[in-house]
Amino acid sequence: MTTRPDSQTQLDALRGEIERRNPAQPEFHQAVHEVLDTLAPVLAARPEYAEPGLVERLCEPERQVIFRVPWQDDKGRVHVNRGFRVEFNSALGPYKGGLRFHPSVNLGIVKFLGFEQIFKNALTGLGIGGGKGGSDFDPHGRSDAEVMRFCQSFMTELYRHIGEHTDVPAGDIGVGGREIGYLFGQYRRITNRWEAGVLTGKGPGWGGSAIRPEATGYGSVLFAEAMLRERGEDLEGQTAVVSGSGNVAIYTIEKLLALGANPLTCSDSGGYVVDDKGIDLDLLKQVKEVERGRISDYAERRGSSARYVSGGRVWEVPADVALPSATQNELDENDAATLVRNGVKAVSEGANMPTVPEAVHLFQRAGVAFGPGKAANAGGVAVSALEMAQNHARTAWSPARVEEELARIMGDIHTTCHETAERYGAPGDYVTGANIAGFERVADSMLAQGVI
Ligand code: NDP
Repeated sequence: MTTRPDSQTQLDALRGEIERRNPAQPEFHQAVHEVLDTLAPVLAARPEYAEPGLVERLCEPERQVIFRVPWQDDKGRVHVNRGFRVEFNSALGPYKGGLRFHPSVNLGIVKFLGFEQIFKNALTGLGIGGGKGGSDFDPHGRSDAEVMRFCQSFMTELYRHIGEHTDVPAGDIGVGGREIGYLFGQYRRITNRWEAGVLTGKGPGWGGSAIRPEATGYGSVLFAEAMLRERGEDLEGQTAVVSGSGNVAIYTIEKLLALGANPLTCSDSGGYVVDDKGIDLDLLKQVKEVERGRISDYAERRGSSARYVSGGRVWEVPADVALPSATQNELDENDAATLVRNGVKAVSEGANMPTVPEAVHLFQRAGVAFGPGKAANAGGVAVSALEMAQNHARTAWSPARVEEELARIMGDIHTTCHETAERYGAPGDYVTGANIAGFERVADSMLAQGVI
């Protein structure tokens, strides 16, 4: 489809304006550019979307909250961190998106994540808006009591801004079941309400959904499988490289094993492990989930099949499929070239924006099936929305029912992205398909609801 030149000009001007008005936020610029780069055909085909102000409104958060988080460590020393919640877009439902606790967190990171979340949540079809939050607090090496005091202080401000009909946070990097527990406890104490739907990722006995911990990793593997099936293949017998060793990576590895694939690697910020016999899931869970240890501990205990590569990049290990599941911009152009040289067939992003734009283009030029995070890792937020539905109904679904729903939703997202890409003249381009399909759903609601 040809693009009206004025659509492209409009988007280019907006791109410059966003850089000017949001200085020193490179990850936010990157996320916005990646979407704007694909929207020209849809603005050309649907003039109502080119209405002045629509895309501009979409790129400006509805609300941004920044707050002080003071807390005391076990020795009584006072620390001061910064807390964030960016409520980006609520045209489709309450803001929904995780909290990240990592020293790298700043406003630009939270805005990139919140922006991505708008489109991802729209793709699930589940009536959730986009938001994200977190803090520059580093939970590594902190005792449970320190993490609890930090979470309590964080919630003492955050509670004013969230609610089951307003804004529903969940976990992300550095925020798992332990942190959600402390956050929920403090929210309940301050508000004197049992409002289960205010946070997702809760424990199984107090409002959490079955399969929520597994959902992002399982979903990313299901997306990889769907992309391979388009090409007449599946995951059975394929080797896989996985980065990260947190929530998403662990359940990516679990699902790969369940589907007969052979996950060879995992990593953390110190280095990676390659295991010739395939990752031993029980040992990985013991080291990371139970002991909160390092990935080097896995290699030490696994025996001769595994080796730890300090500071190395997991992408140098040859494999059929790659599933980046750690953090943003962890896979660059050189890594992509190595993967392509080694014959990779599909890349499914479990993490948010892990692949730099040049690497995405390289994969696409080489004919590698590339599933962007907005689509491929949407299983986590989808099951979070199912957790909200269960909380509203005061019921709990069986694991089998949730997993069936997750599989259906991931299949629908794959089909939507695939068909949308074809409709706009970019067959096989899941980036374009995901961006345009997500955009259409949000834009239609924004247009219907007026200039707000
Ligand atoms: P976890 O905190 O459970 O695990 C993060 C993993 O990534 C750890 O192994 C960590 O290593 C590694 N990592 C984090 N930051 C870096 C870094 N700067 N450099 C190298 N390694 C790093 O987080 P999740 O598994 O929940 O999240 C992983 C990714 O998936 C993120 O991009 C997140 O936004 C995305 N995501 C998560 C969802 C969820 O449901 N949890 C939903 C959708 C997307 P170390 O311990 O050394 O820091």
